[in-house]
Amino acid sequence: MRFLRSVENQTLLALGLAVLTGLYWPAFALKIGLVGDVFLRLLKMIIAPLILASVYTSVSGLGSIARVKNLGVKTLIYYLATTSLAVIAGLILVNLIRPGAKAVFLREAPSLKTFTLSDLVLSLIPQNPVKSVAEGEVLPIIFFALAFGLATLSLPKGRQRLLFDFFEALNDALIVLIRWIIYLTPAGVFAIVAKLVAEKGLSPLLELSSYVLTVVLGLFLHAAGTLALLLFLFAREKPWQFFLKVREALLVAFSTASSAATLPISLEVAEEKAGIPKKVAGFVLPLGATVNMDGTALYEAVAAMFIANVCGVELSLGQQILIFLTATLASIGAAGIPSAGLVTMTMVLQTVGLPLEGIGLILAVDRFLDMLRTSVNVWGDLIGARIIARYT
Ligand code: ASP
Repeated sequence: MRFLRSVENQTLLALGLAVLTGLYWPAFALKIGLVGDVFLRLLKMIIAPLILASVYTSVSGLGSIARVKNLGVKTLIYYLATTSLAVIAGLILVNLIRPGAKAVFLREAPSLKTFTLSDLVLSLIPQNPVKSVAEGEVLPIIFFALAFGLATLSLPKGRQRLLFDFFEALNDALIVLIRWIIYLTPAGVFAIVAKLVAEKGLSPLLELSSYVLTVVLGLFLHAAGTLALLLFLFAREKPWQFFLKVREALLVAFSTASSAATLPISLEVAEEKAGIPKKVAGFVLPLGATVNMDGTALYEAVAAMFIANVCGVELSLGQQILIFLTATLASIGAAGIPSAGLVTMTMVLQTVGLPLEGIGLILAVDRFLDMLRTSVNVWGDLIGARIIARYT
């Protein structure tokens, strides 16, 4: 039973048992929803102060504006490069497999507001930083923490120390809290997944199998191929070993379908298990949790092409390039919460003139794909932190 001594293995076992419980004992699975909700709430409880403290200490701890710029530029290059590679992989696969080209099925259309570029830009800047923290708005908190951190670097050293020590202590206390919450992950993951399987079942997956397969294959190739290779080439780390170190975060990402809710665990495993310095992890991971979503970008491109196929619309190369650009932007704009990618996909569909109702086609399988794409999103963030740490 040594296997079960680690929380990671307990969580993995919990996940397997949850699927069985959801399938064969749904009544019980539906009753334990509260356990999952408590776990999620505990994670959400620390997100806002954690982002503020970790981004702030990371930026002000770098010691000079030039170093922040250096880290920022490397981070952005990594995000953009990997997101683009993800979308390209998705587009190639969807052109090869052509899911939806034969079958036509229509479902009820959801009513969704279109997501636009100005929504994306304005969503970055807080109207009021206190309100943003109170309401857990991730991007505005990051924006404020970054600006405040940069401003601090312009103060005399003594004043800088005062602020830095306070936020660093806050950060450390939050990490202790996270360690406590981690003990609950097996129970939380079990309850969340069992309830989900009991509610949704697995049959929609079969109905849309060619689409599901394209997304799953794309995600797998990106995670186990492209990202793993980048990790090996640039950080000289064996992907499997790194996977074992950070797997708790990936399991939580899979179960919660939320990069933001997973952030506390990602930060903990990055620093404690993968040995990534706080200065890098505290910057790359919170930002990545909302900005760097390789899985979401890939999924948006595949989903848009699938909808085009179902509607019998042939998309030209130019239109596919537009999908490439908008899927990248839509993944940046998606919040790290469940189904966020579904909402920002309206931007992709709108740009190439596909009907928004198309989203109704893929709703039934969205949660499952969301779990997978969120794991890839978090995997991409962690690999980014590891690679960037090597060059900082
Ligand atoms: N749920 C995803 C995440 O949190 C975003 C999405 O694709 O819906 O990373």
